Amino acid sequence: RPRVLSGIQPTADSFHLGNYLGAVRHWVALQDTHDAFYCVVDLHAITAGHDAKTLRQRSRTAAAQLLAVGLDPERCALFVQSQVPEHAQLAWILSCVTGFGEASRMTQFKDKSQKQGSDRASVGLFTYPILQAADILLYQADAVPVGEDQRQHLELTRDLAQRFNTSFGRTFTVPAAHIVRDTAKITDLQDPTAKMSKSSSSPAGIINLLEEPARSAKKIRSAVTDTGREIVFDAEAKPGIANLLTIYSALTGRSIDDLVAAYAGKGYGDLKKDLGEVVVEFVRPVQERTRSYLDDPAQLDKLLAQGAEKARAVAARTLATTYERVGFFPPV
Ligand code: ATP
Ligand code: MG
Repeated sequence: RPRVLSGIQPTADSFHLGNYLGAVRHWVALQDTHDAFYCVVDLHAITAGHDAKTLRQRSRTAAAQLLAVGLDPERCALFVQSQVPEHAQLAWILSCVTGFGEASRMTQFKDKSQKQGSDRASVGLFTYPILQAADILLYQADAVPVGEDQRQHLELTRDLAQRFNTSFGRTFTVPAAHIVRDTAKITDLQDPTAKMSKSSSSPAGIINLLEEPARSAKKIRSAVTDTGREIVFDAEAKPGIANLLTIYSALTGRSIDDLVAAYAGKGYGDLKKDLGEVVVEFVRPVQERTRSYLDDPAQLDKLLAQGAEKARAVAARTLATTYERVGFFPPV
């Protein structure tokens, strides 16, 4: 079976609707067709400043949410990145085949470091895409289900894999991005040209899966929409309405055309009210299941440790080959 790998950062107390619709939803589906590896990337989560007291719990919450939306530890390896040391080990080697200029072109670093100020932005934030390449290449992943914002990092991963293979002999599978266009960029409810983001959306702009459902419905009702009153799908002229229709369609399985036809002659308020209810219906059972996983942290930690063991079996093999190729002694 082909392999798939993806990850999510435990940088908040919940993940948001963009993470779910753009990425995690596909992780669930790909379990059926792929050898699947999914990780909570806590090594990535410390690149932009973090609180040591909450990180472990956030990692647990992220894992619990992933289980709650349908990841099945019998059908995938679900693990926490820091429990598989090979990620950091391979990242070092890859960083030595990455050009400084090449890394400097990553737009996510430019955006995030600009917000933090260049003295506060860490070197870890700069090398983040190289660690991400290691995450992917360790598992010889064929496909990487992510949102649109990760396209450039995926390109870098492919370049590094090809370059390494050419210089040292065939070692890594060159992975393809698995980006499903319709939901690849869910936008901020208050700024429908920006992506919904854990780190940069305002509270009113983001729907967290674990927040009070009534609050989510209210945020949808207050979403910034466009001038005019007609409900049509036009991502350029009406990005706010297009975003709401995208979310509506993805959560219900109804096509955009079907929704547009159903709301002909109705107003933005009707659409928002109904979508608020759709979101509430969706998150309620997810929240209940998340809570039940979090109620038994010992069991959850055990499950994650088992996932890490499964992952390590594969990661250690790739790292051993890499060590051999570059002229190191074998890992002991
Ligand atoms: P941060 O702002 O801290 O980077 P994030 O919201 O981007 O957080 P990540 O953990 O970095 O969340 O990303 C997890 C996955 O969710 C990635 O595959 C990413 O591409 C995807 N994703 C993030 N935001 C969106 C979005 N608004 N629409 C679609 N996919 C998204
Ligand atoms: Mg991100």
